[in-house]
Amino acid sequence: MTSAGGIQIPSRLPLLLTHEGVLLPGSTVRFSVDSPRNMHLVSQRLLKGTSLKSTIIGVIPNTRDPEHDTDDLPALHKIGTAGIAVQVVGSNWPKPHYTLLITGLCRFSVSSLLKERPFILAEVEQLDKLEQYTTPATNDASAEDGELGELSQKFYQAAVQLLGMLDMSVPVVAKFRRLLDSLPRETLPDVVASMIRTSNKEKLQVLDAVSLEERFKKALPMLTRQIEGLKLLQRTRKMSPDNEKRVTDVSCFRLNHIYIREDEDDDGDDTAALERKVHGANMPEAALRVCLKELKRLKKMPQSMPEYALTRNYLDLMVELPWSKSTKDCLDIRAARTLLDNDHYAMDKLKRRVLEYLAVRQLKTSLKGPILCFVGPPGVGKTSVGRSIARTLGREFHRIALGGVCDQSDIRGHRRTYVGSMPGRIINGLKTVGVNNPVFLLDEVDKLGKSLQGDPAAALLEVLDPEQNHSFTDHYLNVAFDLSQVLFIATANTTASIPPALLDRMEVLQVPGYTQEEKVEIAHRHLIPNQLEQHGLTPQQLHIPQDSTQDIISRYTREAGVRSLERKIGAICRAVAVKVAEGHRLTKTETSTETQQQQQQMGDKAAPPEMPIVIDHIALKDILGPPLFEMEVSERLTLPGVAVGLAWTPLGGEIMFVEASRMEGEGQLTLTGQLGDVMKESAHLAISWLRANAKTYQLTNSESTSRCACIFIVCLFCFIGSVRPPQVGGIKDKVLAAHRAGVKRVILPKRNEKDLEELPANVLADLDFVTASNLDEVLNASFDGGFPGTSSSRSHPQLSSKL
Ligand code: ADP
Repeated sequence: MTSAGGIQIPSRLPLLLTHEGVLLPGSTVRFSVDSPRNMHLVSQRLLKGTSLKSTIIGVIPNTRDPEHDTDDLPALHKIGTAGIAVQVVGSNWPKPHYTLLITGLCRFSVSSLLKERPFILAEVEQLDKLEQYTTPATNDASAEDGELGELSQKFYQAAVQLLGMLDMSVPVVAKFRRLLDSLPRETLPDVVASMIRTSNKEKLQVLDAVSLEERFKKALPMLTRQIEGLKLLQRTRKMSPDNEKRVTDVSCFRLNHIYIREDEDDDGDDTAALERKVHGANMPEAALRVCLKELKRLKKMPQSMPEYALTRNYLDLMVELPWSKSTKDCLDIRAARTLLDNDHYAMDKLKRRVLEYLAVRQLKTSLKGPILCFVGPPGVGKTSVGRSIARTLGREFHRIALGGVCDQSDIRGHRRTYVGSMPGRIINGLKTVGVNNPVFLLDEVDKLGKSLQGDPAAALLEVLDPEQNHSFTDHYLNVAFDLSQVLFIATANTTASIPPALLDRMEVLQVPGYTQEEKVEIAHRHLIPNQLEQHGLTPQQLHIPQDSTQDIISRYTREAGVRSLERKIGAICRAVAVKVAEGHRLTKTETSTETQQQQQQMGDKAAPPEMPIVIDHIALKDILGPPLFEMEVSERLTLPGVAVGLAWTPLGGEIMFVEASRMEGEGQLTLTGQLGDVMKESAHLAISWLRANAKTYQLTNSESTSRCACIFIVCLFCFIGSVRPPQVGGIKDKVLAAHRAGVKRVILPKRNEKDLEELPANVLADLDFVTASNLDEVLNASFDGGFPGTSSSRSHPQLSSKL
């Protein structure tokens, strides 16, 4: 068809890209729009325009999956429908959007895109003739010749047949009848396809049929299918006693995308089913009363009311909650011990305490008592132990991440008066696990925030308090739920930022970092087998020797736990999985020359990989890249004025290089780096102490001695920094960090000597520990041959640190 003659649409059209359906010429469709481009089109074009022309827009079906929508403009469907926006309604609920009522005029094709922002504007070519309909349909049709005439006649008759089966007293049917006779035949495929039940895909086929003949051919089977469907319906109704002559059920009909009559029976069934579920949910009296009240309201509400969906969601949640569903505890301490041992290497102290806790629970059959809180750096197995506890008890496990939660409604839900209100994480968790006695792991309690929306810690206190939590009331539910059977376990990186009231309810169990050797064991016993399984590999396909694991630990990770280690092993598994799948060889180093020759003869690429693929140092470098960390301690310590300090952070122990250098000036101390107040104070203390004792240590202002003074300051600084009250478990983490970094000697305050007991034997053997009770001892221990001027030293002209 050409656009010659008839009404012309503007050659430049703003385009509405929509997922919501297909607009066909001659029908009116309601579109809800909320994408930025479409919103701009409405606000800047439709609402600003004053002429009729400005209400004409192009509607293009967006055939791309809405889930993959990005900001980029997708390839546009080639054909669209120009339409008049006859109504624009704006709303802010549930989010800002407009609803447009658009009547389709004619097809167009996109010739070129003029701009993409703020809304799409395109040069278009009109494809259908657009007439003012004055001529009766029948006359036009008889004018058509040949196949097209025949087709249009057939189509018209089928439409009449369909109407004949419908009840004319229904207004929409009467309207359809009128349309049928007054519209030109060529418009019938579009109009009928949009009125009968067709899928969007089918409508798209009709839209894409530019030639009229093709359009009739595409739409006719849809119409025939509808007729057949109605015939079937009539037949089944005739068999029933109260048969009706005509099909009055016009639910299959829709006009302007509004269902004329919803299937009320279905709806009735639906609420009846819901009511049955409410009675079957075994909920407490109070909750049941609320549900029945809501159900009563729901029955009176029309489905189109926004509140209908809200009430419905509420009731769905209420019937899904495990009011009285629980798993049976099966606690056998001996089995629990085996399971904990099988799941975790090392962490003996923690495992012992967990078993004690479980044993007490078994004897007391009550959960009252402190909540266990595992405190330690990331990746040391806190979550994993929590999961094992659930397994030993035969309970469901659910992790609730609290990091960054700063709104109490996250815990306790939003009141239902709020738009978009939801239950809190506790109730949501219960819905997810489906039982009322799970193990809930409250992850990262030290990272709770605080905001104007109330303190989440206060809400959490209520959850954890055994005196209160049997009637925990989520704001959304607004009825009490009994949490007393839930076993809560918390985790944190540090106790310092856990709100005191919360900390008070908890029994803190320290989970320190691992030594190099422990990590190797964990890797070989747990991480590697787990990762192999997750990647569908077997030990017969991939082998990581112990020294490669050592290499990964010392040169590719620097952490207290084993999380990066696990990730690196995962990366190796992925790389090997690809090789295995491709049938390529990863490294040649392990293959014998004989097999190499064979493989060369066969053509290297076709050769299957040598099994198992062994990850040696070369393969490691291939997969993980060059090492990320090198032993830097010995290198840096050769410089004068540098000492190693040990620090504790929530992520574990850290070594830090402290460097002092002298400069011209007034004797001021300049500190660089991000130092906390305590550290700054330590530095000032160090220099004051130095000034006060300069004479004793023969440090006058000469060239060589001021160099000594630098070394001196850093030693003092490090030491003073470390004698402040250490974190519980801090010494172990610090020493482990020193061991990781290859430090040989650790000087620590005498009163921390007892903490050394917690260290593994190999660490104790590898390091030289000096406990010092005064600064003289520190200085003496810090330099080869002692320090000049200290009581137990011989004078040494060239000082070199032996840390
Ligand atoms: P956290 O909760 O302390 O941050 P995770 O429990 O998530 O750490 O542990 C990270 C990974 O390391 C998990 O796969 C866990 O199974 C493993 N893991 C940690 N410690 C051990 C251990 N002692 N024995 C076996 N696997 C461990």
